[in-house]
Amino acid sequence: MQTQSSATDLTERQGRAWVPSLLVMTAMALLATLLFAASAQAIDKWPRSTVTFRDRSDWPAAVNLAVKWWNDAPGRLKLVRARPGQRAQIRIVSANIDSAGLAGLPPDGRVDLDRESLNAGEFRYQADVAAHEIGHAFGLPHIKSQCSLMYAEAETPADIPACNSTYPPGVVRCGPQREDVRAMNRRYGGGVGETFYGFRCASPGPGLPVGPLPINFPNPAPAP
Ligand SMILES: [Zn+2]
Repeated sequence: MQTQSSATDLTERQGRAWVPSLLVMTAMALLATLLFAASAQAIDKWPRSTVTFRDRSDWPAAVNLAVKWWNDAPGRLKLVRARPGQRAQIRIVSANIDSAGLAGLPPDGRVDLDRESLNAGEFRYQADVAAHEIGHAFGLPHIKSQCSLMYAEAETPADIPACNSTYPPGVVRCGPQREDVRAMNRRYGGGVGETFYGFRCASPGPGLPVGPLPINFPNPAPAP
């Protein structure tokens, strides 16, 4: 979950009178070939569908929920705690960074959760950020759909009204959604099934109970 700087990038690009020369075009073609070769060669994933993790962050309850979401989602991937002394593949820690979270793709597996961001957010936000970064640590890239857990924006998808329009009042989407689980299963195997549309949470608000309790069940109907 990093703040996007695409607007700035666009301005900078438009500011230059950029005329592609033959040399530049040749270089770009070569670069594209190299990038394609690199991406075709390395699929970011762990070798097995059982992945070990260790959580040393300040938000163990939120990380527990994030792990439960991924383990409860349909598919083969399972997260298990590393044994004492064993090096965990995914290592979750608290950090002071510029975004809410940061994660290294396999075989890195380090997950940094930002103290300032997570301490300012409610429980479901903490769990959402943890689950998003764990998704990267599985090897998942960002997903364009704004209702996906793996959506790139720092804004939590649970707060986008269109993502919650089919839910009862006070219920918001959070945790992995169908597209996220499909991306995970493409790496680790398993189907998504006909009835899994993603997890959702209770959200505190006017007239609603305080303290968001996670509601871990699939949506009864497909989201539009
Ligand atoms: Zn991200």
